[in-house]
Amino acid sequence: MTSLLKVDNVTKRFGGFTALTDVNLDIAKGERLGLIGPNGSGKTTLINCISGVLPIEAGAIAFDGADISKLATYRRAKAGLARTFQIPKPFHSMTVIENLMVPLEYIVHRLVDAKNQNAAHSEASDLLRRVRLADRMSAPAGQLSQVELRKLELARAVAARPKLLICDEAMAGLATKEVHEILDILMDLNSSGITIVMVEHILQAVMRFSQRIVCLTAGRIICDGAPADVMANPEVRRAYLGS
Ligand code: ADP
Repeated sequence: MTSLLKVDNVTKRFGGFTALTDVNLDIAKGERLGLIGPNGSGKTTLINCISGVLPIEAGAIAFDGADISKLATYRRAKAGLARTFQIPKPFHSMTVIENLMVPLEYIVHRLVDAKNQNAAHSEASDLLRRVRLADRMSAPAGQLSQVELRKLELARAVAARPKLLICDEAMAGLATKEVHEILDILMDLNSSGITIVMVEHILQAVMRFSQRIVCLTAGRIICDGAPADVMANPEVRRAYLGS
């Protein structure tokens, strides 16, 4: 197994409060990993430390063989680390495809000339097909439904051509059929070579998606293994499921 992300003994404090204690996590290239845990267990803090939004107090984080512990967020993104946000914030008055073309032009293509606009348009169209949103390409983003907004958020993250995609509750508040739709899209993205970490409260979705599940409780990893084993673990059931 080739490691893509290695979280090595990471500790994170907020003043006197320790939100993460000695967290160790090794994610292989191509893996589909589920990250679960009750509210306040440290999931968001962990992904903020990985993406560089928060500095860590102790330990190290390596990505694709390089130490990224002290790299700025944008440099981690450039190295291939992407994430989605729980509440997507597109430019509402711009169309769906324009929302994607802004980062594609400026980040990927840099120069905004006619040739690059065409390239950005074609790449954005491809992305929208991958997230099954091509039929809404010309709609203002402000008119999108919840599930369509989540798809646009996924396309935005994938536009950066990530090696690792961390999905922060990409399915919260969606109907069952829509959850399955997002799961199918994530499976496709994973088949195309993107390693995916799913942080999610909807356990059926995590179970269906993940090859491995990690459970955080009070800032510590209490279980790391095959989905069925993690769900059967008494400590997980007590901490997470309340039984
Ligand atoms: P989860 O995502 O699993 O719900 P969080 O990572 O948001 O958990 O929070 C973990 C713990 O860290 C919680 O007790 C929360 O109150 C605390 N926490 C998170 N962010 C901050 C912050 N910026 N300042 C102080 N405490 C924080």
